[in-house]
Amino acid sequence: MKTQQEHQSNRRESGSQLPTQTDEKKLTLDRREIAEGLAEKPGHDELVPSRYSLQVGEIEVLVISDGVLPLPTAMLGTNVDPAVRDAWLDEQFLSPGTTDWPLNAVVVRSGGQTVLIDAGLGGDPNLDLQRAGRLNLRLEAAGIDLASVTDVVLTHLHMDHIGGLLVDGVKDRLRPNVRIHVAAAEVAFWQSPDFSRTAMPEGFPDALRSTAKRFLNEYRNQLKQFDDESEVAPGVVACRTGGHTPGHSIVRLSSGGERLTFAGDAVFTVGFDQPDWHNGFEHDPEEAARVRMRLFKELASTGEALVATHLSFPSVCHVAETDDGFRWVPAVWGH
Ligand SMILES: [Zn+2]
Repeated sequence: MKTQQEHQSNRRESGSQLPTQTDEKKLTLDRREIAEGLAEKPGHDELVPSRYSLQVGEIEVLVISDGVLPLPTAMLGTNVDPAVRDAWLDEQFLSPGTTDWPLNAVVVRSGGQTVLIDAGLGGDPNLDLQRAGRLNLRLEAAGIDLASVTDVVLTHLHMDHIGGLLVDGVKDRLRPNVRIHVAAAEVAFWQSPDFSRTAMPEGFPDALRSTAKRFLNEYRNQLKQFDDESEVAPGVVACRTGGHTPGHSIVRLSSGGERLTFAGDAVFTVGFDQPDWHNGFEHDPEEAARVRMRLFKELASTGEALVATHLSFPSVCHVAETDDGFRWVPAVWGH
């Protein structure tokens, strides 16, 4: 009995182009391999495109998932008793060891400008984060050419928000005069960043430091720094909140009486139930909790839509206030 390889080499030698029974089997295998491969190679053929469009008045909004980032659950509440944290995780049907953090970025079109809000994780060879860093391929699959991006807004300079800009070839595909909006306080912070109040997994502080440094070196000429807020396109306003990092900003969209806020890392899933739990990535956790609470209260009273980096994709939701916290109310799927 001949092996598949022998069959194939015989076929090549004989020059036959007709599929044999063995080829049929091989084709079946290929299809399975392709299906498995799709999970690894995102792009036009992804089974789940991971993009979601909506409209805010005249502003077109596209939420795109960069993938997911598995992190220790201890990150979710560094100031609480682990048993209390584990009880909360259990209520959420989450395991106590590691949870997947969703990673959302947004593309906004307004007044002829195309604005990318945050840029995903990219890839760090020193960290094993295989399921994130898909933004660039998913932008391409959505038909968004990097050369069409007129503006980038960065909520802050943690690597899961800037890494996509450091992937090989990305800078060359962006316009040389692309405007990258970031709070001046954020740029200043990363000159000599203070990690003394954070509680991150091993390897992360070094990776965050070096990624931010690399970003500032690569894109210094494209930076458009703002103090408190900046309207980067009609109805698209970046506003500094501080807290998570000193220059952390949110992006507020407003058009035709409709409003949506992209909250970056001011809001995490756990924050609805436990707004005062400190997140291990917060450089000023008390201030971050105050920012989160203020924002939740405001969004609950205005009823405007919320999208945030680490809420489950597509993350479009509203905020309701409860007796002892807040409630995440997902928006109805609109397609
Ligand atoms: Zn983040």
